[in-house]
Amino acid sequence: MRLLFCGTRGSTPAPGQAHVRYGGHTSCVAIGPEGGRPSLLLDGGTGLARLDEHLAGEPFVGSILLGHLHWDHTHGLPFFQSGSAPGHRVEVLIPEQGDDAEAVLARAFSPPHFPIEPHQLGCGWSFRMLSEGEHEIEGYSVLALEIPHKGGRTFGFRVSDETTSLAYLSDHHPLALGSGPLGIGELHESALALARDVDLLIHDAQYLVEELPDLAPFGHSCGEYALSLAEAAGAREVCLFHHAPRRTDDALDELAGRFAESAIPVRMAFDGLVLSLGKADRAGVTSAGH
Ligand SMILES: [Zn+2]
Ligand SMILES: [Zn+2]
Repeated sequence: MRLLFCGTRGSTPAPGQAHVRYGGHTSCVAIGPEGGRPSLLLDGGTGLARLDEHLAGEPFVGSILLGHLHWDHTHGLPFFQSGSAPGHRVEVLIPEQGDDAEAVLARAFSPPHFPIEPHQLGCGWSFRMLSEGEHEIEGYSVLALEIPHKGGRTFGFRVSDETTSLAYLSDHHPLALGSGPLGIGELHESALALARDVDLLIHDAQYLVEELPDLAPFGHSCGEYALSLAEAAGAREVCLFHHAPRRTDDALDELAGRFAESAIPVRMAFDGLVLSLGKADRAGVTSAGH
């Protein structure tokens, strides 16, 4: 399984000189086989533009799992050029709510908020609800479970193939369920089930731990929580994700330094990060930037 981190910011894109190393696109992670094209996308933030560069004119054929419908996870959809290239197929799955997935998306994607409606994105686009539970999507096993966030139903995902697995909790507010053993959020059942024994836990780290008292009501968590969840669930590696839009490269380096000695490896997500999961020894994670 090969991952391409196309967008790693939360809330809003973050261009600028202070953000060139980690990048400024919002959430999108592309999953595909080694040597093959990605077919499963986690979220459709502005990072989809980077996937366009990667696909270089080839059509996208696959599914997009939207963990929730906040702008930073959907705003790349109408500008996804590979999603309208000849031969495209794009199935968009949203957390189950109401009875018409396209109508739910159209609340944000239709005039006067946006020039077109979802069905005008391309002839090969379709939209459907995803329920909690186990699914087979694009050849991957996907476990979808609701996790606490703020303002709308939010799913975390666990994605597995025959040899490897990852968990994706991009926007997560575990303090909503209690303070937990460290006072920074409950290690609740759904988070533990998603992260159980995964090779890689991709997790919300929008706040610094010292910011939690003031900012937690906005619905996110910190790197220390991600590490504690990994320890409790047996995850092998942590990838801190959904960086605050104003967190500079230097500040993100400083955050990485806080976890340099941790028992479980902790890496920072950045736009363009490529990770190969489950190579040879089944537990290895190898990386390359581009
Ligand atoms: Zn977000
Ligand atoms: Zn959100």
